[in-house]
Amino acid sequence: MTAHSWVEGAAGSGFDVDHLPYGVFARSGERPRVAVRIGDQVLDLSVVAAADMVDTHALFDQSTLNPFMAAGPAVWESTRTWVTGLLTDQTERDLVEPALAPVDSVTMLLPFEVGDYVDFYASEHHASNVGRMFRPDAEPLLPNWKHLPVGYHGRSGTVVVSGTDVVRPCGQRKAPTEDEPTYGPSQRLDIEAELGFVVGVPSAMGDRVATADFARHTFGVVGLNDWSARDIQAWEYVPLGPFLGKSFATSISAWVTPLAALDAAWTDLPGQDDPEVLDYLRVDGPAGLDIEVEVVLEGEVVARPPYRTMYWSPAQMLAHTTVNGASVRTGDLWGSGTVSGPERDQRGSLLELSWGGKEPFTAGGRERTFLEDGDEVVLRYSAPGTGGGRITLGEVTGRILPAR
Ligand code: CA
Repeated sequence: MTAHSWVEGAAGSGFDVDHLPYGVFARSGERPRVAVRIGDQVLDLSVVAAADMVDTHALFDQSTLNPFMAAGPAVWESTRTWVTGLLTDQTERDLVEPALAPVDSVTMLLPFEVGDYVDFYASEHHASNVGRMFRPDAEPLLPNWKHLPVGYHGRSGTVVVSGTDVVRPCGQRKAPTEDEPTYGPSQRLDIEAELGFVVGVPSAMGDRVATADFARHTFGVVGLNDWSARDIQAWEYVPLGPFLGKSFATSISAWVTPLAALDAAWTDLPGQDDPEVLDYLRVDGPAGLDIEVEVVLEGEVVARPPYRTMYWSPAQMLAHTTVNGASVRTGDLWGSGTVSGPERDQRGSLLELSWGGKEPFTAGGRERTFLEDGDEVVLRYSAPGTGGGRITLGEVTGRILPAR
C-alpha cells in the first residue's frame, strides 16, 4: 500500500495511513473519546463513526480502548479499512475535517484500562549484562533463562500515560559495603526502555494461547518505560523478584500501534537452537520485530537499542503466560523487558550504560550515571511501515520530581 492521506503533513510524518495508532483524548469540558492519529492531528472516531452510521460507533464513544480492543480482529480490520478510506478519499473531507484537531490542542489520556501487568526479561544482552554486574563470579545467565521467558507480575495501578511526572521513590536499600539497611530516596533511579503489548481478546481460564494465536488475542504495541530504583531492587529482590523497586511507576505511550501496522516489521528471532525450546514455545516464521528504539536523556540520544536482537518473541511471552491455564483479560499488558543490543551504545538502561555507576557516560554536556531530579527521559520508537517508509510509534516521556 503506497496511498497517502489527504491530511496535510501526514505523508512522511510517521503517522500516515500505514500507521493509524489509537488513543483516548479529552478537551476541557468534554468527556474522553477514542481517536486515531493522522499526521499531527487526532481524528475523533466517535464523531465520524456516528456521522457515517458505522454500526460499531458506540465502541469509540468511550473513555478507554477496552471495548474496541475486546471486539476482536474482524472489527479491528474493518475499522482500519474504514478509517483508511476516510483519510485517503478526498470526497470524505467534508465528513472528516470537522472531527480533526491538532494533537497539541487536546490532552492524551491513558489509552486503556490496564488489567494485569507482567514484565519479562527477554533480551539476552540485557540479562547477561545484569548477570555480570550482580553475580560477577557466576555464569551471566541463570540455567532457566534460555528455556523459558522469565517474568514477574508488576503493578497495573501505577501504569501511567506518557508525560506523567515521576516522583523519586523512597525505600529501603543496603549496599554490600553497609552493615544495616537505611531508608530514604533512591540514589540509583533508572529507566528500562521496553516495548509493551496489550491483550484485546481474552482467553478462558484453563485454556492455553498457542504462539500461532498471538495475533487473535493481541491488539497492539505501546512504548514502555519500566522506571527502576536499582538500590531498592538490589536489596529486596532475593528470593521472590522485583517489588517496590519497580512498582512506583511504569509509563506507556499514549498511542497504541495496532499489529496490522507492523506487518512489514516482523523478522526472524536471533536463534533458539541451543538449547531448542519446548514445543509450546516454538514459533513458525518471523516472530521478532524490527523496531528501533532511541533513549533520549535531557535532549541527547544516549542509546539506540534494536528490538530485533531480543531473544524471546512476544508470541512466546503470551504462550508462556497462559501455559498453566491462567487466563488473560482485555487490557492485560506485558512488557518485553529492557531492550539492549550487543554494543555499548545499544543498552536500554542507565545501569548498563554506566556499568553499575562505575563508568559514567556523557549526556547534556555532563557526566552521568543514574537519574537526577529534573531529568527528562524520552523513549522513541520506529519501524518499517507497510508503505515502504517508516512509522513512528508513540513516544514515552517522563520527568523526575524530587522525593516527597
Ligand atoms: Ca523491566
